[in-house]
Amino acid sequence: MSTRPPLDTPTLHDQHGRWPPAESVDDFQHNIAAVQARIAASCQRVGRDPASVRLLPVSKTKPEASLRLAYAAGCRQFGENKPQEAYRKWEEMADLTDLHWSVIGHLQTNKAKLVARFATEFQALDSLRVAEALERRLQAEGRGLDVFVQVNTSGEASKYGLPPEEVAAFLQQLPAFSALRVRGLMTLALLSAEASRVRNCFILLRELRERLRQDAPASIELDELSMGMSGDYEIAIEEGATVVRVGQAIFGARDTPDAYYWPSAEQGEAR
Ligand SMILES: *Cc1c(COP(=O)(O)O)cnc(C)c1O
Repeated sequence: MSTRPPLDTPTLHDQHGRWPPAESVDDFQHNIAAVQARIAASCQRVGRDPASVRLLPVSKTKPEASLRLAYAAGCRQFGENKPQEAYRKWEEMADLTDLHWSVIGHLQTNKAKLVARFATEFQALDSLRVAEALERRLQAEGRGLDVFVQVNTSGEASKYGLPPEEVAAFLQQLPAFSALRVRGLMTLALLSAEASRVRNCFILLRELRERLRQDAPASIELDELSMGMSGDYEIAIEEGATVVRVGQAIFGARDTPDAYYWPSAEQGEAR
C-alpha cells in the first residue's frame, strides 16, 4: 500500500483568464519549461519518473502564427477541441511534416471523416456510433487512430463522456473496430477551486482503470490516463496521469469562455 504523505496541492484555477499571452519563441520556451518543472516536481512528490508524463500542448482558438512559434520552441504535437478548427490548422501547417494532431473534444459522426484524415489521436471516444463512423472512414483512408475513451468523472449531467459504470461494457465492443487502437481513458475533472473534489475525479479514473484492466479484451490497452489541464495538472499527475492537456499555461489565456467547449462549465463557478 502507498506510504506517501497526504497531498494538499492546490488547483491553479485562480489563475484562470490571467495566463500571460505567449508572443515569441522565447515566451513559449519559458512557459513550457515552467510547466515541465511543475510536472517534474509533481512526479517527485509521488515517486514517478517525469518521462512517464506526456505534455500535450492545447492550441485551440490560437492562430496559426502562434502555433508556429510553439513549434519553433519545440512542440511537435497539438491538442485541438474542435475537429474543423484542427483540420484547418493541419492544412495550413502541412509543411511541418513531423507535427502530430490530437483531437480532444466531442465528435459528431458527420465530422469523423475529417478526423480520420489527419489526426493521430482522438481522446474523446464515448459512443459506438462515433466508433463506427471513425472505423469506416479510417478504413477508407487506410489509416489507424489511437483512441482514449472519455469518462465523465464529475457526475455533471451535461458533460461529455461515458458514466463510469458503462465503460466496461463499452470496452468489450471496441475490438470490432480494428482501425481504433485503444490506449487508455480520458477525463475532465470538475472545474472547481476545491482541490479535494478535483482530486476525487482523478482518483475515480485511475481506480476505474485498475478494475477495467482485469477484464478488458486483449487488444485493449489501458496504459494511458489523460487527465489534468492548466488549472489542475499537478494534482492529476499525483494521481497517475500519463498525458496532461495544457493550453493556457503555455499559450496564454483564451478569449473564448470554457462554456463553449463544455456545456456545463458555468462562468465563474467556484473559481
Ligand atoms: C481546452 C482543453 C484543455 C486545456 O485547457 P487549459 O485550461 O487551456 O489548459 C484540456 N482538455 C480539453 C478537453 C480541452 O478542451
